[in-house]
Amino acid sequence: MIDGKRWVYEKEVCTMPWIKEEDCTDCGVCIDECPAGAIVRKDEKTRIDMAECIRCGTCHETCPEGAVRHDSETIPLEVASNVAYARSCMEACVRLLGSPDEGPKCLNRCIKYFTRAKKVAEKTIEELEAVQKGE
Ligand code: SF4
Ligand code: SF4
Repeated sequence: MIDGKRWVYEKEVCTMPWIKEEDCTDCGVCIDECPAGAIVRKDEKTRIDMAECIRCGTCHETCPEGAVRHDSETIPLEVASNVAYARSCMEACVRLLGSPDEGPKCLNRCIKYFTRAKKVAEKTIEELEAVQKGE
């Protein structure tokens, strides 16, 4: 969800793939083709249950409307959302802790949070590349 109210970076680690609602005609092809039964109709919309998705890419390949999208397309939105959220935290820290000094401290904690997330991602990629090489 790109709502500026949470750490999207963390939440969306496994967002591949996603359905672009405005392009989806609810034809049901992806539901029939998904080998994991991970695509369902919910609230009158076609949705992917990421807990069930095995990231095989079949839905992306078979959707006749090109409505199943790659998660890399959401990067700018996710970055904007993360920045918006960090700003809101910073403002809340200043307000609730009662000092303008709390703003930079809060931002520093946000930067540490994303630095850690970056390290986790880099280490994960390293390990996956080792798996790819059969190590
Ligand atoms: S195949 Fe594409 S258009 Fe059809 S329901 Fe799935 S996402 Fe929507
Ligand atoms: S990537 Fe594969 S498992 Fe995941 S929703 Fe698409 S078809 Fe289903």
